[in-house]
Amino acid sequence: MRRTRIIGTIGPASDNEGTLEALVDAGLNIARLNYSHGDLEQKTELIQKLRKVEFKFGRPLGILADLPGPKLRLGSFSKSIKLSKNDIVNLHCGNEKLSGDFKLIENNNDSNTYNIPVSYGGLSEDLNDGDAILIADGTVRLNVEKSPNKKDGLVNCKVIEPGVISSRKGVNVPGTLVSLPSVGEKDLFSIKHALENDVDFIAVSYVRNAKDLQPAVEAIKNAEKYTPIIAKIEHPAAIENLDEILDLCNGIMVARGDLGVEIPYEEVPLVQEKIIAKTLERGLPVIVATQVLESMINSPVPTRAEVTDIANSIRQGTSALMLSGETASGKYPIEAVQTMSKVCAHVEQGLETMSSSPALAKYRATRAVAHAGVTLSEEENISRLLVASQNGNAARLVSAYRPKCPITVFTNKIETMRKNTILWGVESIMVEEEERSRSTILNAIKILFDDGKIQPNDVLVSVSGSPKAISGPTNTVRIFKLNSKGEVIIDE
Ligand code: PEP
Repeated sequence: MRRTRIIGTIGPASDNEGTLEALVDAGLNIARLNYSHGDLEQKTELIQKLRKVEFKFGRPLGILADLPGPKLRLGSFSKSIKLSKNDIVNLHCGNEKLSGDFKLIENNNDSNTYNIPVSYGGLSEDLNDGDAILIADGTVRLNVEKSPNKKDGLVNCKVIEPGVISSRKGVNVPGTLVSLPSVGEKDLFSIKHALENDVDFIAVSYVRNAKDLQPAVEAIKNAEKYTPIIAKIEHPAAIENLDEILDLCNGIMVARGDLGVEIPYEEVPLVQEKIIAKTLERGLPVIVATQVLESMINSPVPTRAEVTDIANSIRQGTSALMLSGETASGKYPIEAVQTMSKVCAHVEQGLETMSSSPALAKYRATRAVAHAGVTLSEEENISRLLVASQNGNAARLVSAYRPKCPITVFTNKIETMRKNTILWGVESIMVEEEERSRSTILNAIKILFDDGKIQPNDVLVSVSGSPKAISGPTNTVRIFKLNSKGEVIIDE
């Protein structure tokens, strides 16, 4: 069984039912909906399709709503522009589009001048002379020659690294703390939509500190939901403030695309390693995202470097890997998930499972019982760990200790099964909860035996609550032995 979870972004290359089915069949665990693109009606339709596919396959499919966040973008203009070194770019801040009074290109003798709109008016206030501006994932670099230091102004820039820009391309200003909130008006509409449609995770973009998560925390609380929040780490301030962010979020995404523009790209590998280690310490899930199989946007086979990057992320302990353009707009979305699944399964087999210690996890009693269960499961003859979990905390903490044997979580809530899709090594099943813990565990054992997941004479360890297994507080570790007919003969 593959233990690293696979997240795929759904877009024009994959949003039809046939491809969604093929992605799930290939091993997709979580579908990511990027709220930066498309309208809310499309999202509603897509969520309905995903739930249909989930029902057809009979196993939980997580849905992750990724909020747009304060990503700065160029405004709209008609054509792509090839910028040359030393060209002049006038950024007209506070304009989604330029009026006819401005020509997009003004030709001078030795260089061109371009008039480009930028929708965020505050940019001309935040920028200072000499600041760097990166466009289109850092492929184009401008230097600010003159900033008015006031809102809705004109910023004069010179091209330092030439390249092609086009309408709505992303803009990064490394080192400048842009005063846009992490959760703005569009994000609040997106959260409302996501919650109304019962998504399983909400990812907050461009988090810089714990305060940036607060609007999402409140929106979820006001909706009386418990949707886990994933904080996307893509700004240098978030690396500084990682501890306080970890205190408030329910998981982390290493968003390497923007991160590698906001900090020098050569720093990304060690920063990734540090973020993963700190997140695991808390017993929280962590996602490594972006350019994981980038070449597969255009090619049916990955590069060796991409495969090695996946292996390194697994070695560092990531819970999940995320595909973006590969599944959203690439030519080979299904092959990308198949490749990811194959590489993860193979690498995991060859690695000694790392045991991590969620030393700083909340839910200390659950953590101690989870740890005891995992320790007991390391005995040679144990074939599977069974975990009763009502809201996913026991599941998360058992998974965080990275046990060697497979983990089956049993629950009576479909929401928990879906939330568990992000947890390393966790498979979930639905059971009826009985009055006594033992009876519920026996229900789970029967389901697993009938499915061929456990065999006669297997020995199992369970982590559960009492007196009720799922809804009781997690406080019990037991061993169950099966006889040659698959019946439980001993529990201790
Ligand atoms: C990233 O920058 O790596 C990322 C996942 O964020 P975005 O939503 O901007 O792609």
